[in-house]
Amino acid sequence: MNVFDVNRLTEIKRALFIQPHPDDNEIGAGATVAWLADRGCDVHYLTVTDGRAGSDDPHAAPEQIAAMRRQEHEAAGRILGVSHFHWLGFPDGRLRDTEQLREAMTRVIRTVRPEILFTVDPWLPYEGHLDHIVTGQVAAFCALTSGNPHFFPEHRHQGLAPHAVHAVAFYTTRAPNAFIAADPYWEKKLAAIGAHKSQFSGEYFAFVKEYLTTKAREYAKKADTPWKLAEAFKVLTPVMLHMNVDAAEM
Ligand SMILES: [Zn+2]
Repeated sequence: MNVFDVNRLTEIKRALFIQPHPDDNEIGAGATVAWLADRGCDVHYLTVTDGRAGSDDPHAAPEQIAAMRRQEHEAAGRILGVSHFHWLGFPDGRLRDTEQLREAMTRVIRTVRPEILFTVDPWLPYEGHLDHIVTGQVAAFCALTSGNPHFFPEHRHQGLAPHAVHAVAFYTTRAPNAFIAADPYWEKKLAAIGAHKSQFSGEYFAFVKEYLTTKAREYAKKADTPWKLAEAFKVLTPVMLHMNVDAAEM
């Protein structure tokens, strides 16, 4: 299968949303999380870093910030209908592409066995946060390799068979090729973002809501449907993620 039929998103039984930090899934794809869960899709979260840098207070203990953010991300995910939370706990702000990260992500993919991965678009022009670039790139690499028994062969002896995903949907993308109607789930998405109380409050939260709503209106227009609000994704199959000179335009 070379081209992913976006209509197939409606048939997905299990999805894994991979986020660099505890709040990225809600910001990039919260309405889609709620939509999939509402349709009976089993939605899993995988959070790569522990969010310990998410505070301006120099006296805040990093471990306490991480513990609070872990609680907040579960509260947010539950609002949207997420069934399982996988937490890798790499230190926030210092993520590197390592064998350890690849193994940990592959392990979760082979455990959950999703049809599709959702994650941040690491090829977003001007993305400056290395945690986002590393997370998106390693997720794309795992989409290429998790079905190959020669990557982390020790997994088989631990009862984890190789598992190939059908597609990766990148959110926060500059090159969307798929739009999901967000109207019925918009309030839930904003409530889930608000569940990250340590990150969003007051004027800043109001600004974030306004910005996301403005973007969602733009996406709905681009989708050329009667929807008022939409979330945007770049959906690619694993085949498109390797030596494919047309992927950017697909
Ligand atoms: Zn982030």
